[in-house]
Amino acid sequence: MNCVFCAIAAGQMPAHLLHEDEHFLVLLDIFPLRPAHVLIVSREHAPLLGDLPVPARDALLALAARVAKALYGCPELGVQGINLLLNDGPVANQHVPHLHLHLLPRRRGDVPALLWRMLTRFLPLGRTRLEARLQREVQLLRRALQAEG
Ligand SMILES: [Zn+2]
Repeated sequence: MNCVFCAIAAGQMPAHLLHEDEHFLVLLDIFPLRPAHVLIVSREHAPLLGDLPVPARDALLALAARVAKALYGCPELGVQGINLLLNDGPVANQHVPHLHLHLLPRRRGDVPALLWRMLTRFLPLGRTRLEARLQREVQLLRRALQAEG
């Protein structure tokens, strides 16, 4: 299996998993553009939005709203806005050809940091520190998502 999200869905690869249901996995992006960058990944391998089975497609926005509420609900994260972004196809900057919706938390004045991360996110810089932060974010967001039930 050479699709990273299929491998995660099959439990064959570790992930910073926040939540899962019949259609989707919710996890942290390991190359975050901003802190607490979340991905909603379809359980089934579907490259594009048009490939997603209708029940999953119809559930996606409700789940996104729930995750957004959890992000806003963690004062430690200081989230002031969220970009919801679905890169549909490689030409549209989709790096993994398996449907995933980005929830990119934003804070006032973060554009320079965002642009810097766009250039450096795939470089192996500061991974130890980043991993510690991801672990903290997993704890916070798992709790917040469970609280919403
Ligand atoms: Zn896949």
